[in-house]
Amino acid sequence: MKHSEDLKVFISSRDSSCEECGESLGRRAWITLVEDKGALCLSCADLDHLIFLPSGNTALTRRARKHSVLSAVVLKWSRARRRYERQGLLVEAKALQQAEQECLADSEARARRREREAARRAELDRHYVERFALRVRELFPGCPAGREVVIAEHACLKYSGRIGRSAAAKSLDDEAVRLSVTAHIRHAETRYDELLAGGYERRDAREQVEEEVRKVMAEWKEPGA
Ligand SMILES: [Zn+2]
Repeated sequence: MKHSEDLKVFISSRDSSCEECGESLGRRAWITLVEDKGALCLSCADLDHLIFLPSGNTALTRRARKHSVLSAVVLKWSRARRRYERQGLLVEAKALQQAEQECLADSEARARRREREAARRAELDRHYVERFALRVRELFPGCPAGREVVIAEHACLKYSGRIGRSAAAKSLDDEAVRLSVTAHIRHAETRYDELLAGGYERRDAREQVEEEVRKVMAEWKEPGA
């Protein structure tokens, strides 16, 4: 299952005919281009048994491609953008089936994980969450309604074993509260997560949003100041 170079299938934009079988393919035909030979229809190119999987589902595409011994990228010329654009992938039926099963298994696994997390939230130390939330509200009166609970629950999960802290670390000092609020603002009120997803180093991403975090924090601390 080596993919040195992707096979390419083009959706043609003008009338074409197959160089091998002579079949007139009309406009918008799916063809492959062979050196010295010109256009070939998918039958002659031995690709007509493949199934078209449109772009869009990244996980499914990646898996289908992995399981497919033979696959081809489908490209269409975009006149507006003046370049070929990927429409999807031609893959073996068996590979697509296997990929679909794996994706399904994944979504079941995700559903089970959500259940586990819900059960865990139910076990949260409600008393600690309440006290923490109260302190957030005291220190940051401008914090939007309900956020103090989100922040407190997150802090509680963090201190209750997720990173292996002891009960002693479950302290409620102002510094812990401030750190939790900072982290929340970074994720919820800035482009931080987007930057990370875009390949930014964590430190650079933090630097990018530092000023914004400071501003939001100041506003939460002294609303309207
Ligand atoms: Zn042909």
